[in-house]
Amino acid sequence: MLTGKIAVVTGAGRGIGREIARRLAECGAVVIVNYHGSKEAALEIVKEITEKGGTAEAIQCDVADFEASEAFAKQVLDKYKRVDILVNNAGITRDNLIMRMSEQDYEDVLDTNLKGAFHMIRHFSRSFLKQRSGKIINISSVSGLLGNPGQANYAASKAGLIGLTKSVARELASRNIQVNAVAPGFIETDMTKSMTEEARKELSGRIPMGRMGNTGNIADAVVFLAGTGADYITGQVLCVDGGMCM
Ligand code: NAP
Repeated sequence: MLTGKIAVVTGAGRGIGREIARRLAECGAVVIVNYHGSKEAALEIVKEITEKGGTAEAIQCDVADFEASEAFAKQVLDKYKRVDILVNNAGITRDNLIMRMSEQDYEDVLDTNLKGAFHMIRHFSRSFLKQRSGKIINISSVSGLLGNPGQANYAASKAGLIGLTKSVARELASRNIQVNAVAPGFIETDMTKSMTEEARKELSGRIPMGRMGNTGNIADAVVFLAGTGADYITGQVLCVDGGMCM
């Protein structure tokens, strides 16, 4: 149980982040639902959590923006005084083959997926250190471990997240703060919705379990890493991918 824990989930209005927010709240955590553009969706999940007796609040912030992230962290800490669980989930794709990939598309993906996590960890780190406890969970991807054609920017950002995870894990280990990554395989969300039937078939062939995962599969892993069951686990990458990375 995570009763009374303060959890921040970035990009929690939609997709995987939304399910993580829902599950953390079901376990008793107070959830700060960060969103960027999807205000209505964020308010919807807050309403759902509140109606079920939980506590949640939606706060807008572009994680790619250093100053905005600092203001976001300040707003959270002014009100809640601490943060126990930080889930860096916000992410985007701008897929293209390397010879056609624009500098902007490369930068945008790195800024949101990798710098975004850095911003949040950086701005919440003082609070974590003062508390001498906490869990940071970064949502990486199998693309960061295996690479993926058409995703040089995305795979670089997700591989970078693993380096970030391990370095921060080493820095904060002695202060009882665990830092881990979850690497989802292919999960049914808006991010993967646009794939053609043919691409889906081809992809399923590469998944030993033969099917895509769902957002609940990722949320289950996050809830585990956020709880006391993971108190002696740090610097790890937990693949939730139907066996793709075995
Ligand atoms: P999604 O449905 O496209 O949702 C992306 C989320 O990220 C949205 O809530 C979006 O918020 C948020 N976001 C994007 N840019 C942001 C920014 N600058 N600041 C704050 N929030 C921002 O994607 P998903 O499939 O749920 O993916 C969630 C995470 O899992 C991502 O990191 C993704 O890379 C990773 N992942 C997904 C899969 C998959 O198969 N789906 C596989 C491996 C890893 P707004 O809507 O409010 O803008």
